[in-house]
Amino acid sequence: MNVKQKVLRQIQDLKTNAESVAQQNLDRALSDKEFKQAYLKIKSLNYDIAKLEFFNKPSNQKRLALKKVQSFASLILKRLGLSFDDFKPKYNCKYCNDTGFVNGKYCKCYYDKLNTIILNNINVDIDKTHTFKNCDFSIFDNPEKIKNDYKKIQNWVEDIENSKYKNLLISGQTGVGKTYLVECICNTLLQKGKSISFFTAFALNNMFLKYHTTFDDNKGAILDSIIDCDFLIVDDLGSEPIFKKVNEDYLYLVLNERLLRHKTTIVTTNLTLRGILDRYGDRTFSRICNKANTITINIENDDLRLRRNKN
Ligand SMILES: [Zn+2]
Repeated sequence: MNVKQKVLRQIQDLKTNAESVAQQNLDRALSDKEFKQAYLKIKSLNYDIAKLEFFNKPSNQKRLALKKVQSFASLILKRLGLSFDDFKPKYNCKYCNDTGFVNGKYCKCYYDKLNTIILNNINVDIDKTHTFKNCDFSIFDNPEKIKNDYKKIQNWVEDIENSKYKNLLISGQTGVGKTYLVECICNTLLQKGKSISFFTAFALNNMFLKYHTTFDDNKGAILDSIIDCDFLIVDDLGSEPIFKKVNEDYLYLVLNERLLRHKTTIVTTNLTLRGILDRYGDRTFSRICNKANTITINIENDDLRLRRNKN
């Protein structure tokens, strides 16, 4: 089950739960004989009233009788510790009554839940204040070039559904602000309600190792979420230790499968293109750097962290 199906299942569970609590309350009340009689009386009076009003006949007397039975039934309910309200399902979301949809579109509660799940899956803290709007380019040596790069990426992320470029490769030395850029991207995607899986190359490699060394029928699930999420971010490719046949094969498998499914993969690395080729081989290289579907950005700067320390 992918993350979207998981969220919809959660919301449906809330709905089922709310409805079954309401039903249980009603069942408990109906087990009281007096209440059951009153309840059936209310039903038949409501039916009578509807019928009379349909034929434009006076219904005052029936309405008066209904009021009486209703207040009598309320008293019995009070004794049972219940009220008529307890027979209505108490939905968590008043907009969609826990269906997850409003007018055929996902409800706000769906996106809230999705983001919670996604943020819990991210094993890195995404700084919410790092957005394209808040960027301070003055810290860069070449602010105009960086500004252009950021603008290019911002335009791409904001219209990502329509872009022919599915992948993004951000390269550059350590400390030039690649992570900052990735955080801007993440925050934009989260605002758009997209699901993200964020892995350091190190953590991703550990998943591959786990997959490689697991021998049961469910091992497929380990890779499924990585292959199937809409946006996979691999941070700092090249920093992970190399295990022959693991990095190369599984990275290729994941990247290739994601391309086939038109899913977006974002990679940051301080390797050069040559370095990627040498380390992962040409099959994987072509999935990471293919010009036909990948935007490549190289960020150059003095080491920002070093510079900050100097100042
Ligand atoms: Zn809702």
